[in-house]
Amino acid sequence: MTDDTVLSVRDLTKHYPVTEGLLDREVGRIRAVDGISFEVRRGETLGLIGESGCGKSTAARSLLRLETPTGGEVRFDGETVGDHTDDERKRFRRQAGMIFQDPTSSFDPRLSIGESVAEPLALHGMGDRERRRNVVETILAEVDLSADDYDRYPHELSGGQKQRVALARALVTNPELLVADEPVSALDVSVEAEILALVERLQTTFGLSILLISHDMSVVRDVCDRVAVMYLGEIVELGPTEAVFSEPQHPYTRALLASMPTPDPGQRGGRADLSGEVPDPSDPPPGCRFHTRCPAVIQPPGYDLDQAVWRGIMDLRVAVRDRTLDIERLRERRVVAEEAESAENLSKGELRSALRDAYDVPEELSDSNAEQALSTALAEIVDGELSSADERLRGAFPTVCIQEHPCLRETETGHPAACHLHDVADEASAAEPSLSPEG
Ligand code: ADP
Ligand code: MG
Repeated sequence: MTDDTVLSVRDLTKHYPVTEGLLDREVGRIRAVDGISFEVRRGETLGLIGESGCGKSTAARSLLRLETPTGGEVRFDGETVGDHTDDERKRFRRQAGMIFQDPTSSFDPRLSIGESVAEPLALHGMGDRERRRNVVETILAEVDLSADDYDRYPHELSGGQKQRVALARALVTNPELLVADEPVSALDVSVEAEILALVERLQTTFGLSILLISHDMSVVRDVCDRVAVMYLGEIVELGPTEAVFSEPQHPYTRALLASMPTPDPGQRGGRADLSGEVPDPSDPPPGCRFHTRCPAVIQPPGYDLDQAVWRGIMDLRVAVRDRTLDIERLRERRVVAEEAESAENLSKGELRSALRDAYDVPEELSDSNAEQALSTALAEIVDGELSSADERLRGAFPTVCIQEHPCLRETETGHPAACHLHDVADEASAAEPSLSPEG
């Protein structure tokens, strides 16, 4: 950490307990934020990006102490946030403003705009009403609202105007840091551009450091100096915006980029690279949390299967492991497709073919060892012997991506990513086939 650092977050964790019964016994925990570290430097805008549910808002609330974190350390201007006295906590609140995604629910409908914006001033001890009014009118002008707006009410404002008021309120105490959680996601595109331009202008006027949270890559590209990419409670890549966009080092970042709309509709990436659902954070996948969706899951040495086929085998492996494979549904669909009279008429061979179809695996794999293991596993699945199939698939199709949790580490571009594709040191050991069962 240098003098240049306004906010430093180390191993921040926020778990929500899942409880059951009258005694609220803890039966699990939602790992909303699971050990993230980053810094916000003076005057910069750091973007925090990731799909909905990956933990961005929880991270923001925890680091601002709107919620008590489960673990980790947050330092603001070099001082630990948390073991604060009331006075220190108040000072921290004054120095770190926040605006929220939903501009409507963040206002008390009974307060006028001016009263809402003045509230933090009163809270921080500015007793003089007239003075408060002056300060508020000045800040309203900074966000391109007028003194006349002081006496209006939230319901009279458009979404964009509400976000301007939210900015005014966050900045009225002249903070060093602004945390903006999805500040434009509820707005129309044209208004979005206006608000982002305003944020950039305010940054200069107020000398702000900003943590900008968004699920939209195009928002961070235009506004942020650096970007942290979050997936399921963890940061998987962190670097200068330009480097992250031009040389993404994590398959998840690449998938997010590919799913961005492009100006040319014919080129639209769609969501092809990012299929499947975000897994449940109360039961995150072992190893690399992205392995259930990653197009680049690593094959063990000795295999050279088409990557799409490998992905299909991984999907099958995961479905068998997690018991999400629904053989009965597959059977029914096949009956319909083949216009067969009944499910009983389907042969086991037909069901095995149906499984290959469902997972985009060809009738015969190019590798004979792989083929033998796969066809045996498929036979076991069809016979309902899922444990045996699970063990067989694990043994025959191992991958470091399920075996080991990747750490965030430097890549060739100089910015860190958490992906086994960058495990140079491990390459030597990976040369030995590892057929041991995995966790
Ligand atoms: P994001 O802002 O990236 O969309 P959130 O931080 O809102 O993600 O949520 C992360 C995960 O934590 C989600 O699975 C969400 O359901 C869960 N979560 C958030 N707040 C709570 C809470 N108060 N209690 C239990 N689970 C929560
Ligand atoms: Mg959120």
